[in-house]
Amino acid sequence: MTTSAATTSLANLLHRQRDYWASGATPSLDFRLDRLKALRGAILKYQADIIDAVKQDLGRPEFEGYFEVGVISELDYVIKHLRRWVKPRKASLPLSQLPGSAWVQPEPRGVALIIGPWNYPFQLIVSPLMGAIAAGNCALLKPSELAPATSKVLAQLVEDTFDPAHVALVEGGVEAAQALLAEKFDHIFFTGGERVGKIVMQAAAQHLTPVTLELGGKSPCIVDADVNLEVAARRIVWGKFLNAGQTCVAPDYLLVDERVKDKLVAALQQRIQACYGDNPATSPDLSRVVNDRQFDRLVGLLNQGNILAGGGHDRGDRYIAPTLIDGIGWDDAIMQEEIFGPILPILTYRDLGDAIAAINQRPKPLALYLFTRDRQVQTQVLDRTTAGSVCINDVILQIAIWDLPFGGVGSSGLGSYHGKHSFDTFSHLKSVLKKPFWMDMDWRYPPYGDKVKLFQKFIGLS
Ligand code: NAD
Repeated sequence: MTTSAATTSLANLLHRQRDYWASGATPSLDFRLDRLKALRGAILKYQADIIDAVKQDLGRPEFEGYFEVGVISELDYVIKHLRRWVKPRKASLPLSQLPGSAWVQPEPRGVALIIGPWNYPFQLIVSPLMGAIAAGNCALLKPSELAPATSKVLAQLVEDTFDPAHVALVEGGVEAAQALLAEKFDHIFFTGGERVGKIVMQAAAQHLTPVTLELGGKSPCIVDADVNLEVAARRIVWGKFLNAGQTCVAPDYLLVDERVKDKLVAALQQRIQACYGDNPATSPDLSRVVNDRQFDRLVGLLNQGNILAGGGHDRGDRYIAPTLIDGIGWDDAIMQEEIFGPILPILTYRDLGDAIAAINQRPKPLALYLFTRDRQVQTQVLDRTTAGSVCINDVILQIAIWDLPFGGVGSSGLGSYHGKHSFDTFSHLKSVLKKPFWMDMDWRYPPYGDKVKLFQKFIGLS
């Protein structure tokens, strides 16, 4: 398709969605539930294709392929609770406003644009999509071009399941994303890196469109001396090396109490061997790096510090071994950017206060992990750091609790979603006040005379 043809068809698509939105079909609860159930059926129908696609795109083992299909558990949660979420939420009135009633009435925003990344290419389109549908919106989807097999399956699934006037998908790369961003939407939901997040926010500003930005960053993982090192190592190795480290909330680096560092390193080495064998290149359970560009960037990070495990790589196969590195300083290149690959730098601290200060000097992380049994340490870290989410004594699992909002803070993101938080994100929470005619107090009307005293009382001054 030529660029102008593509632009015309995009404009047509948007027109159709705007008309559909204006027809008032999407906000009905029955319609929303029907479309969510249709989405559920489609995920079940396509599950083998989804797993196969992420295998093609990322060399994902079948088990980790199910992380994509697993989005269905959030969908079930949404279907179960939606009837309650759509209801008006009662607000209390101050005495001065009586008689009357007030409530918050969630209403759909309109037409939403959802742009996704390549690392969990199915899940990170479908999870926001269910929020958009649940809240009664139309949606245009733009998956990542860097996971082309998944993008194709998504396109097929969407075409099979939805009227394009309600939900449609546009495949393509930067050009397609920019053509979409030039249009006016009622909400933009973007998942990706910080650099593109800024581009999205700038484009949204032209139309004053609200945005949700789900970005990345360096998520620290603190390991205190008071831990079960074996269990900590099992959990860290799993969370860091699944999907070959290409997980936005993977622990990016370890900050370890120097007294337990050697023991922790031994436990991590042992776990890597237990999970991926003597030669991880032949393990069926290790994903591959998504493309040559990412591979070259990651291999460039292996030139620093001392390699304690792994380090091997093969460009033809885009394989990088699960790698542990120490001898790293805060100023090294590997500590300047999100690693987003199977390389884990290990830094140490003597004083927890110094570790906290080091974290706080850097951009606010998407996730923060803390391993310790010590409640005082837990409180100290929780109270003195900030992060999109925190998980104590485990990693990653906090994002699969649908009652918890998932999102970043500062440069790791803006806004949040999951479960009811997705519903709220894709809704406008409209305030409503309703007054009866039967009583009309005189205190606010001129002539004011000596009513000022009464007013002072109302506002709590006397
Ligand atoms: P990316 O920012 O490069 O791309 C994301 C999307 O933006 C893609 O669909 C791409 O086509 C589009 N895009 C790329 N360049 C663009 C441009 N110039 N203008 C407009 N659109 C453009 O991100 P990625 O490499 O796909 O994903 C990796 C990043 O995403 C990491 O930083 C990771 O931490 C982050 N991430 C965050 C979350 C989260 O939930 N917070 C989840 C997954 C990934």
